[in-house]
Amino acid sequence: MKKLLMGMSTADLKLLAKELGEKEFRGKQVADWLYRQGCREISGMANLRTSFRERLEEGYETGRSKVKKASMAGDGTFKLLLKPAFGELVEAVGIPYQDRFSCCVSTQIGCPVGCMFCATGASGFKRNLAAGEMVDQVLSVGEYARSKKLLAVDGRVSHVVFMGMGEPLLNYDATLAAVRLINGEFNIGMRNITLSTIGYVPGIYRLAKENLQLTLAVSLHAADDALRRKLVPGMTRYSLQEIVDACKYYFRETKRRVTFEYCLLKDVNDGQADAARLAAMLQGLSCHVNVIPFNSFKGGGFHAAEAARITAFCRVLEEANIAVTRREQRGGGIEAACGQLRRQTLSGQGDLRIK
Ligand code: SAH
Ligand code: SF4
Repeated sequence: MKKLLMGMSTADLKLLAKELGEKEFRGKQVADWLYRQGCREISGMANLRTSFRERLEEGYETGRSKVKKASMAGDGTFKLLLKPAFGELVEAVGIPYQDRFSCCVSTQIGCPVGCMFCATGASGFKRNLAAGEMVDQVLSVGEYARSKKLLAVDGRVSHVVFMGMGEPLLNYDATLAAVRLINGEFNIGMRNITLSTIGYVPGIYRLAKENLQLTLAVSLHAADDALRRKLVPGMTRYSLQEIVDACKYYFRETKRRVTFEYCLLKDVNDGQADAARLAAMLQGLSCHVNVIPFNSFKGGGFHAAEAARITAFCRVLEEANIAVTRREQRGGGIEAACGQLRRQTLSGQGDLRIK
């Protein structure tokens, strides 16, 4: 099988060019074609000598995916189902905002953690994605957004959130390589990159040591261990206290405020007592809580918390001086919760609305 160019940095590509008997700057040209021009075939890299292109083609392909399906909500949020160079389908989401454009990246196909309220968790785990396959999602989302005029012709994805399918810290090396490529090759600032984890404690310590300026988001969803064990059955090895301690360490090392995510599920974790416990747990930690509205999916068995309960929940946190944001619901009508598009397509349910 041929190797993939996607996932190789400019420095890697310069070395490759040298190995193939070319000047180093030819490697930079390959990187420009790949990451700046979005070139899908080596044969399209017009300013390279034919002999170099042929040698490249002997051992490599670009590794770009193909858009297999796309669906778009009324608010412009869209979801792509991508066919990678090999294997099963991958999801990526594009989210337009007034002043920025965000891409939500998957790090695994499926997820081994199996959270009860998550469509990805319900579909099992298939494999880790390679760094190049994550970077490809950002390119594909940008291309699609430009084709639908959600971005200007020369517009770019400005923010990347690792919040798609999978647990990034269980695919650590590839995810970190992707973070560095997104920063280095696309020139997206570390502060515009967010990595969301379900709270894999060893991964948080390891990430703290990298001392990057990215935003760490930690999905809690519960403020007591018994409930957390029920909702997040695949990560019971670490208590909430151990997760919070890891986050304190993360802040000490990086000076970056940690975001906590809390998906409000009706009559499960949305009570004022839950909010009070959460506030007590986070006291003294420089953080920010993101309250996420639940996106229901078939077979999930959970319901979204009511608006008044969400307001009351947030108020308890605010009164305890904890910064809280109520995340707006995006992508209504396109099965926007992570893992949903792939799940729906695999089970052949319904047609997706493609605009
Ligand atoms: N595995 C990582 C990152 C991917 S999930 C994590 O769990 O943090 C990204 C976010 O989507 C998590 O906060 C997760 O709780 C949330 N999520 C998953 N299923 C959801 C649903 N059905 N509705 C709303 N948010 C959901
Ligand atoms: Fe995996 Fe995150 Fe979904 Fe849990 S919420 S199953 S960790 S992707």
